[in-house]
Amino acid sequence: MSAQHEVLVVGSIGLDSIKTPFGEVFEVLGGSAIYFSLAASFFTSVRLVGVIGEDFPEQHIGLLKKHGIDLSGLQVLPGKTFRWKGNYGYDLNEAITLDTELNVLANFAPQVPEIYRDIKYVFLANIDPDLQLAVLDQIKKPELVVCDTMNFWIHGKRDSLIEVLKRVDIVIMNDAEARELCKEPNLVKAGRTILSWGPKRVIIKKGEHGALMFANGSFFSAPAYPLEEIFDPTGAGDTFAGGFVGYLASCKQINDTGMRRAVIYGATLASFVVEDFSVQRTAALNQQEIRDRYQEFQKMVHFGE
Ligand code: AMP
Repeated sequence: MSAQHEVLVVGSIGLDSIKTPFGEVFEVLGGSAIYFSLAASFFTSVRLVGVIGEDFPEQHIGLLKKHGIDLSGLQVLPGKTFRWKGNYGYDLNEAITLDTELNVLANFAPQVPEIYRDIKYVFLANIDPDLQLAVLDQIKKPELVVCDTMNFWIHGKRDSLIEVLKRVDIVIMNDAEARELCKEPNLVKAGRTILSWGPKRVIIKKGEHGALMFANGSFFSAPAYPLEEIFDPTGAGDTFAGGFVGYLASCKQINDTGMRRAVIYGATLASFVVEDFSVQRTAALNQQEIRDRYQEFQKMVHFGE
């Protein structure tokens, strides 16, 4: 697929320790920007803005480079890399955060390299909304800005987050986050409320139950791929966003149908990442597997004329 646009992403880069009912891993590669970048790299060139500490393993840099991810915007600061520790019970839709160590992320002042500032497609992955705003301020004339967030920032930085929402074209969040942000149990109402704050589209992910996309005058409900083995749901949201934005960046023009296809590409990529811990499955993926699973999605929702 020849890409039309490059994508700039800012987000966390971390070492995750995760326990699910099916296994446990310690300090593996994670972070919202990582999951996003690897997924988007199947569709377009990715430029990563983020921070790591001096303890970040060299082999992870090698993996990112192998996927053609541009690291000119990667800062290495004295200190430790961001760490996140989470658990999942049998309800894999809900991550229980045991510990968040911001480490170098606490002193991160994102610097978008001069050569990136003309970029048209921007993804603000899950990170402090003040940092998301700092990045947006450095982009000259973006054409498509998409963002994600999580409960940690909904609780801690709600006002900054609402500021971000005013400045983005599309927001992606999960169902629990949308309910919390809007203080509204009904997802249709929550979707409409978020639309009224500024974004042109709102995508609400429902884990194993698919995703909803709201726009003024359009509504789309996408299924999730019916996987029988889900190993580790960490990164599913960021990987969804990587497939979604990556596909859009590969399109000449975007209309409502293109947006719907992008949601299915997002769901396709997300369906792979959960099959193994960390980015192992995404890192081993090929274009043919992506095409095949996308077609399976098409068959799955086809119900005749
Ligand atoms: P998700 O796609 O929502 O499962 O994102 C999982 C990733 O988010 C993990 O790899 C974590 O390293 C990262 N993460 C967890 N908490 C935070 C936070 N407060 N800020 C930024 N990234 C985080």
